[in-house]
Amino acid sequence: MRKLAFVAFVSLAVPTAMPTLAAEVDAVASFSILGDMVSRVGGDRVAVTTFVGPNADTHVYEPTPADAAALTSTQVFFVNGLGFEGWLERLVEATGFAGPVVTVSEGVATHTMDEDGEEITDPHAWQSLSNGQIYVSNIARALCAVDAAGCKTYTANAEAYSAELAALDAEVKAKIAEVSEAQRRVITTHDAFGYFGEAYGITFLAPEGVSTESEASAADVAALIEQVRAEGVKALFIENMSDSRLIEQIAQETGATVGGELYADALSEPNQPAATYVDMFRHNVELLVPALTGQ
Ligand SMILES: [Zn+2]
Repeated sequence: MRKLAFVAFVSLAVPTAMPTLAAEVDAVASFSILGDMVSRVGGDRVAVTTFVGPNADTHVYEPTPADAAALTSTQVFFVNGLGFEGWLERLVEATGFAGPVVTVSEGVATHTMDEDGEEITDPHAWQSLSNGQIYVSNIARALCAVDAAGCKTYTANAEAYSAELAALDAEVKAKIAEVSEAQRRVITTHDAFGYFGEAYGITFLAPEGVSTESEASAADVAALIEQVRAEGVKALFIENMSDSRLIEQIAQETGATVGGELYADALSEPNQPAATYVDMFRHNVELLVPALTGQ
């Protein structure tokens, strides 16, 4: 009787996002896409807590007291870097977290964009599957450093996952090759697909810059509307984690239709079509290709 009561107490008291007792390593990932990648590499040995959850916007995120508490008991903190988590330094400082902060984008050839005459580093490196493979090897190396006993497992998991990403990369390239180059133009809410565009040969245009923090000016929106009309851009997409109103406005003023919702900076909920990094990529490509070819 006493044992049963104890079990009930534990299951009520421990939030679902907290690490399970069986894992060897407690890790934190800053956002959902990275959380999934760390889980794939870590397998059963690593319990992952994710700060910015499904369909949420990391650019404008504000860390919660629960996040700060999670950092005080975690062994390793995985972040994207490249300025994606603008709140990162303040959080690490405030919590006094002394463990490794692993920047998974390290080693990526960075994509930069011109924003109002200023050169800005684009943080959305995961939107290329070859960069995804760099993330995976950085994650494996960091987990080996925290848990040497699990290193064989992490290396094997990373190799299998990386092979899956490489196969998907080839598949995506083959699908996009079906689209004529003149048709490869897409409008989304913010500049989240620069790496995708570079890797797969699509031009993405957006009223907002590389961060959703910056608001689009009326002049930017007007210029984009002009461009959609002049170039006959047909593919307009909203994003799962940002405001859809600008895209709807552009669609309305140009007579273009919205082709659906791309997953940009966050995964979906588990019961939605982009619950993992791999599913996110598949879903985006399955939406993009017919929209670009007008099918
Ligand atoms: Zn973004």
